[in-house]
Amino acid sequence: MRVVAFRVTAASLRTTESNSLTNFNDFNLNGAITRALAEEKYLTPTPIQAQTIPTVMSRRDVIGIAQTGTGKTAAFALPILHLLAAEPRQPVRKSCRVLVLSPTRELSGQILDSFRTYGRHLHIKGTLVIGGVPMGGQVRALMNGVDVLVATPGRLLDLVQSNALRLGEVECLVLDEADRMLDMGFIHDIRKIVAKLPAKRQTLMFSATMPRAIAELAAQMLHDPVKVAVTPGASTVERVEQRIIRVDRPAKSAVLIDVLRHETIDRALIFTRTKHGADKVARGLTHAGIAAEAIHGNKSQGQRERVLAAFRKGEIRTLVATDIAARGIDVDGISHVVNFDVPNVPETYVHRIGRTARAGAEGIAISLCDGEEVAFLRDIEKLIRMSIPVSDRRTHQAHSGPPHARNAIERSSPSASNRDRHQQHRNGRGSRKQPRHDQPNAGTGEIASVKFLQRHASSGRGAGSNTPRWTGQSEGS
Ligand code: AMP
Repeated sequence: MRVVAFRVTAASLRTTESNSLTNFNDFNLNGAITRALAEEKYLTPTPIQAQTIPTVMSRRDVIGIAQTGTGKTAAFALPILHLLAAEPRQPVRKSCRVLVLSPTRELSGQILDSFRTYGRHLHIKGTLVIGGVPMGGQVRALMNGVDVLVATPGRLLDLVQSNALRLGEVECLVLDEADRMLDMGFIHDIRKIVAKLPAKRQTLMFSATMPRAIAELAAQMLHDPVKVAVTPGASTVERVEQRIIRVDRPAKSAVLIDVLRHETIDRALIFTRTKHGADKVARGLTHAGIAAEAIHGNKSQGQRERVLAAFRKGEIRTLVATDIAARGIDVDGISHVVNFDVPNVPETYVHRIGRTARAGAEGIAISLCDGEEVAFLRDIEKLIRMSIPVSDRRTHQAHSGPPHARNAIERSSPSASNRDRHQQHRNGRGSRKQPRHDQPNAGTGEIASVKFLQRHASSGRGAGSNTPRWTGQSEGS
């Protein structure tokens, strides 16, 4: 994977390629942190870490374009811990030195866990401020001040408004998954929070995509940031074996059951578009003798945590989730991601399949695609600049689809799928790495890919498709 860092200046974009640091010792991080990393068996920094860690240590602002699964949490947590340890200070009451904002409760919990893991040999106080649990414990935890506060925006503002928290002591602000926070409608909360922070601070913003709204937010909130980009095409996506199965909509559940029975599964994460769909799929699987649980926004925090813990321990091997509920799931060892519904926002597909192939592992992503979803696949293939092998399980394979979906349909014809199977057989991983030569930036570096992402995002994503679209992050009922 190639990482490119560039400084955003008013006049120009200067790009420089990094000399990737290949060892955590190269960073001169505090010894207590490198010890924890050795215990965690982290040997080599990921590309986003190689770029971000020294930049944050030099107290520069950073905008990082990176997916979950690229190691971005450690990319900001490690240098922040280093800076905190370099200037130890008793936290001021009802205040924090570092504020991390994240879109979901699960992700917030995992970020705090990461700080605790990497900072276990330091004397760092951290706490979590999230909705869905009583406020009393959080008020008490903040009473004497903390070094690191990880929060979802809504509850954070509640605490500020009830005078349980003051933000005037924040030295460093991290906005994680900024694009998701915008999608989820947190923009006003974020602006209110940022208005209460000291103007002189370090700000780090991470986002999987770079739509215009994020660029504008960054321009307002960051000071002369260094931009670090790791594109999905170069990272997670390439390590995931991707497959498409064309199905008739009513047969999706039966095909899913068949797939789960025939694959060697360590842990499978199945995505549905709606909460109702997640429950229905989980019920169908259970009925067929495959133990499965669903998590989504209608489940209580306690239920979600219980199910996630069981999934993490391997007690439940099949989890059905909506995109929002799965947002913060950081479980290693997910061998399969199954898209029961193909997402209509291509970046969501990349997020989903990034749940497998974490930390260098390989994984399998299977998408069950009915006739109405073919257009979505076309957008996905454009974004990832790969052709995904297709097999066909429709009962009547002579279906004709909308004209814009012709490619995927042609490839799903019996002869094409045979070809795919032969190809898979030959190279063991299918033809998925075949670049798409019809894409303007195919085969070029990451900057071009990011531009591609930006253009793609701002052009309304697949404007050519006539199929109605739902928003990627709203959980339907
Ligand atoms: P993230 O992108 O922050 O969600 O991290 C993805 C996963 O990679 C997490 O399970 C981390 O514990 C793991 N991880 C992050 N950095 C490294 C590294 N340098 N070496 C090995 N594992 C890592």
